[in-house]
Amino acid sequence: MQESEVIVRFAPSPTGLLHVGNLRIALLNYLFVRKNGGKFILRIDDTDLERSSKESEDLILKDLEWLGIGWDELHRQSERLEKYRLTFNELVNVGRVYPCYETKEELLLRRKIRASQGIPPIYERAALKLTAEEKEKLERSGRKPYWRFKLSADESVRWWDLVHGEISIPLDAVSDPVLVKPDGSFVYTFASVVDDVELAVSHVIRGDDHITNTAVQIDIFLAIAGKSPDFAHVPLLASIDGQEVSKRVGSALSVSKMRENGVDPGAILSILASLGTSNNADHRDKMHNLIEKFSFEKMSLASPKFNPEDVKTFTRKILAEKTFAEVEDELRKLNLKNISEEFWNTIRENLHFIGESVFWHEILFNEINVLKEDENFVNLMLSTLTNPVDFDKWIANLKLASGRRGKELFHPLRMVLTGHENGPELRKIIDFLGYERLRRRIVRHLEAK
Ligand code: GLU
Repeated sequence: MQESEVIVRFAPSPTGLLHVGNLRIALLNYLFVRKNGGKFILRIDDTDLERSSKESEDLILKDLEWLGIGWDELHRQSERLEKYRLTFNELVNVGRVYPCYETKEELLLRRKIRASQGIPPIYERAALKLTAEEKEKLERSGRKPYWRFKLSADESVRWWDLVHGEISIPLDAVSDPVLVKPDGSFVYTFASVVDDVELAVSHVIRGDDHITNTAVQIDIFLAIAGKSPDFAHVPLLASIDGQEVSKRVGSALSVSKMRENGVDPGAILSILASLGTSNNADHRDKMHNLIEKFSFEKMSLASPKFNPEDVKTFTRKILAEKTFAEVEDELRKLNLKNISEEFWNTIRENLHFIGESVFWHEILFNEINVLKEDENFVNLMLSTLTNPVDFDKWIANLKLASGRRGKELFHPLRMVLTGHENGPELRKIIDFLGYERLRRRIVRHLEAK
């Protein structure tokens, strides 16, 4: 028998910024499907019209593109309402859904009563007992029905989860899920199943906060299609303070914020791909390495902790190893003139993010501020400078002439040449500046006295 195609989907709700937690789910779907050869669907879950926005969708797409997570197809739930309607009608015809008329307040009250009696606060299917006349009366009085799916009672849903292994959830502990709201809109639980069936999704990879959802959805899958996809429930990411990452959006954990802050996409990818797995994160990994290393079997069940500092550290390491050819376009986007391989090699080990190149460009190409340094020492700098400059010789002669060494020697040297306490290695700066520029910087110092 020919194996069917692997089809996965990443299904963000466009109700805010993409955060590292969602992104990790997108990445795991992507790695899995690229490893197994198949189709990656991006599905925008925008049925909640009040909370969804086009701006949020645009940003999600931009974030994914920036990270190199490309999709093969894009669908929006808001454009698929007809499909939901058709499938819903089929469920009405076979009696798997039923109309209910309770108000939110009534439902809440019933739940409270059940809870106070120590009975699980699930929906007790009161609406199933309504006669046709009672329903008609309710509708005439202005009540609009909402619809629930009738779960297969007395059964447990079992599946082999690619991360958790065997999972079994008794359905009698779960309420019949609402599929359609009183205003006629479809709920995600249902829309998602219809989409997964229609788009032939073979593997649903998502956070393990969806496990109970999955039990319910498998029952709906069976009612609609007679079979369900495979599932992988990934432990949710926690931030270093222990909070769930999704509760910290808007902070440094949102992907767009990281993009704005100049984090390298490769840093994010290699950290997220390895978190919670037995793989070590390696800043040198490219997407194809991550695909190669990927396996659900390497994933642990504990919630991994995300530390934004790791992404910063990796960004530094990646920049330090990037060649001029790899960054030339980015440097040009920063409007830097006269950039060269030599310029890049001088600064690359000192960058926290690529945008800092502007700062070093300013220092290396423009006149720098004159600072108060010991005039005697600056005079010696000039008298020991040779053309062409030989770093080792210059330092040796300056040492000899001034009797200084260590910090006493290098600190004023760096201050006169760069105007800053820290920065790229002096040897690199001196080689880059060359005799003429070095001389001018020193002379400017002396003239300003
Ligand atoms: N829009 C849903 C969410 O963000 C998708 C969950 C799923 O993958 O089915 O939670």
